[in-house]
Amino acid sequence: SPRALSGIQPTAGSFHLGNYLGAIRQYVALQETHDAFYMVVDLHAITVPQDPVELRANTRLAAAQLLAAGLDPERCTLFIQSHVPEHAQLGWVMNCMTGFGEASRMTQFKDKSAKQGADRATVGLFTYPILQVADILLYQADAVPVGEDQRQHIELTRDLAERFNTRYGPTFTIPAPHIVREVAKIYDLQDPSAKMSKSAASPKGLVNLLDDPKVSAKKFRSAVTDTDTVIRYDEKEKPGVSNLLTIHSALTGTGIPELEERYEGKGYGALKTDLADIFVEWVTPFHERTREYLGDPETLDSVLAKGAEKARAVAAETLAAAYDRLGLVPAK
Ligand code: ATP
Ligand code: MG
Repeated sequence: SPRALSGIQPTAGSFHLGNYLGAIRQYVALQETHDAFYMVVDLHAITVPQDPVELRANTRLAAAQLLAAGLDPERCTLFIQSHVPEHAQLGWVMNCMTGFGEASRMTQFKDKSAKQGADRATVGLFTYPILQVADILLYQADAVPVGEDQRQHIELTRDLAERFNTRYGPTFTIPAPHIVREVAKIYDLQDPSAKMSKSAASPKGLVNLLDDPKVSAKKFRSAVTDTDTVIRYDEKEKPGVSNLLTIHSALTGTGIPELEERYEGKGYGALKTDLADIFVEWVTPFHERTREYLGDPETLDSVLAKGAEKARAVAAETLAAAYDRLGLVPAK
């Protein structure tokens, strides 16, 4: 079966609703159709300063949330990126395949380094898309489930894979992004022109899955909309309302036209209150499952150890092939 690969950062502790709808839900779906590899990308997390104690706790917490969201270790391979040293090794090779100008065009770096202050941004933050290239190519992935913000990085991955294959002979599968248009970009509830993000300017528009559900419900009820009153999907004219409709539709499985009909003649308050209730109902069992996985560190660590072992077998084979093609002398 085709391969899928994706990674998620453990940086904020809790995942947010954009991570879940844009990415994690697709991870869960692709377990059924793909040979799927998913990892907590702790090496990406350290591109910005991390407290060691928090990083360690957040990495386990990320794995627990992925399991709580529906990843099944019998159906996919779940592991921690740093447990598979081949990521850093192929990452170096890919650094040497990338033009400086090419890397400089990555818009996420521009955004993130601007937020941090340009001289505080690390070289690691600059080259992180290239490590991501290695993450994907190691597994010969066909599909990479991600949100819209990652499209440019998958494009870079395709370019570098093609470049390597052309120079050194067929080595890597050319991957394609798996982006589900409807949920590819969930917006901040207070600023519907900005993507919901872990590194949001203000926490008010960010729905963290592990926050107290009462806090999240309040965020939905005070979501920014517009001065009109009609509940209609229109990204341009009504970005706030459209975002709420997207989230409602994704969590309930109801089509947007049906929602528009259902809320005809009703005010924004009704939509917001309903959505707050829908979210709380969905997230409460998610909290319970996350707590269960966290409360059983032995099982969690054994899932991650088995995952790393399976991942390493695949990664080592790809790295050896790449080293060989490059002309590196094999260690005997
Ligand atoms: P940061 O702002 O630090 O980059 P993030 O919120 O983007 O954090 P990541 O760990 O970088 O979180 O992303 C994990 C996955 O979630 C990626 O596939 C990304 O495309 C997806 N994703 C992130 N934010 C959204 C969003 N608002 N809507 C849809 N998908 C999203
Ligand atoms: Mg991101």
